[in-house]
Amino acid sequence: MEKLIRLKNILEESRMIGIASSRLMWDQSTEQPKLARGEYSNTLAYLQGKNHSLIINEEVKDIIDSLKDDDSLNPIDKAILRELKEDYDRIEKIPKEDYEEYARIRSLSILAWEEAKEKNDFKLFQPYLEKTIDYKKRFIQHLGIGGHPYNALLGDYEKDITVEDLDKFFNNLKDELIPVIKRIAEKENPTFDFEKKAYDIDKQKVFSRFISGYLGLDYQRAVLKESAHPITYGFSNKDVRITTHYYLNNFLSSIFTTAHETGHALYEQGISDEITFTIVGTGYSMAMHESQSRLYENILARNKNFWIPIYDKLQTLYWDNLKDVSLDDFYKCINKSKPSLIRIDADELTYPFHIIVRYEIEKLIFEDKVKISDLPEIWNEKLYEYLGIKPTGFSDGILQDIHFSQGYFGYFPCYALGNAYASQFAYGISKILNINECLLQGNISKINEYLRENIHKYGKLKTSKEFLKEISGEEFNPKYYIDYLKGKFSSLQ
Ligand code: ZN
Repeated sequence: MEKLIRLKNILEESRMIGIASSRLMWDQSTEQPKLARGEYSNTLAYLQGKNHSLIINEEVKDIIDSLKDDDSLNPIDKAILRELKEDYDRIEKIPKEDYEEYARIRSLSILAWEEAKEKNDFKLFQPYLEKTIDYKKRFIQHLGIGGHPYNALLGDYEKDITVEDLDKFFNNLKDELIPVIKRIAEKENPTFDFEKKAYDIDKQKVFSRFISGYLGLDYQRAVLKESAHPITYGFSNKDVRITTHYYLNNFLSSIFTTAHETGHALYEQGISDEITFTIVGTGYSMAMHESQSRLYENILARNKNFWIPIYDKLQTLYWDNLKDVSLDDFYKCINKSKPSLIRIDADELTYPFHIIVRYEIEKLIFEDKVKISDLPEIWNEKLYEYLGIKPTGFSDGILQDIHFSQGYFGYFPCYALGNAYASQFAYGISKILNINECLLQGNISKINEYLRENIHKYGKLKTSKEFLKEISGEEFNPKYYIDYLKGKFSSLQ
């Protein structure tokens, strides 16, 4: 037990350093004055380096090795050991020099991407993208996981899914949803004049706070701020911080961004006290986290019944703009579907195709089937094939997202998986609770309670596979997502 106590002390020290560095990152995205950009990057690098050496060393390795098969450990300690060992194995297999060189290239790659996007010039980014990919390929070799090379990349974000699963999932979406998208595109698109009117920013702030609280966010344990790229930080279940953004001529963006981040935040607030200060006291995976944010943003907040009890509040707040807008029109507006070039602005129905384009390109890259210089054209062709539109340049095509520059290959599919998990969970919940009835009564706490008791409180103690099985009664099945989208969009049009 001495070893376990020693390990826990080390992990506690690491957690405290982690809090300091993530608090700096929070500060960078919210409060820090513009001119101080970069000022704390050395502090941050110092803290992260400190944390790395605290965990990655012979002493910790020995403790993990001697405790990993110890059956007398309680389930939480076992999970901590398992988690630590997995991280350790991944980090250990990659030579330090490779990792350091990769980190250096990565930061240059992000800067090159920023410039390339601004100047609409893929060539400025291409050499950095090539190097980043080379390193990723080398890492895959070092990890030696076997099977499709892309599986090793997926493992960083969702361990429970393989390329075979994704191929099946995405082919299913293509077969079932492309005809629906085509059918909608042939019809005349309704326009909603109220949507792009000016909406006072202070009022948007009031409504964002209202809607997050209405969805169940506990403001005794949460903070809501503003940032260009909305994000959630879960420091512990008592300190969860989210950001949103406000646009004068797009009030819907703040509403649904806030609902999205609230979903992430409720997950983190729902972690049980027993594990909140440990490395297993956070959401299980990127895809699981996204399932919660999408459930709140789309399945709940884009449901008509959600708005029935509160629409008059929104209408009163923006009386001049909304007094003649019926709930029916508001509902149609927040669910209109039209193919668009930018992923983060896409509607629920066309969204997964933005992910499929990226997934298929990433697969081609790691199967060595493509030249990097050909990627922009492949991107444009695929988007045209699925959504019938083509980017006008690189900035609204292949350069629109930061992920490739950060080396986040394998990350995009988790957005689509999150959506699909959300639908499968909603199906499971509906066997026990009438979701529409809860929304109509403004009783979201019942849904929150279910999610807290069946998902949130467990943190990393259970896997996506287990959550899906326990809640819906079966393994991951895209059917629920497809049914949800088809049902919703065929009744809307
Ligand atoms: Zn999210």
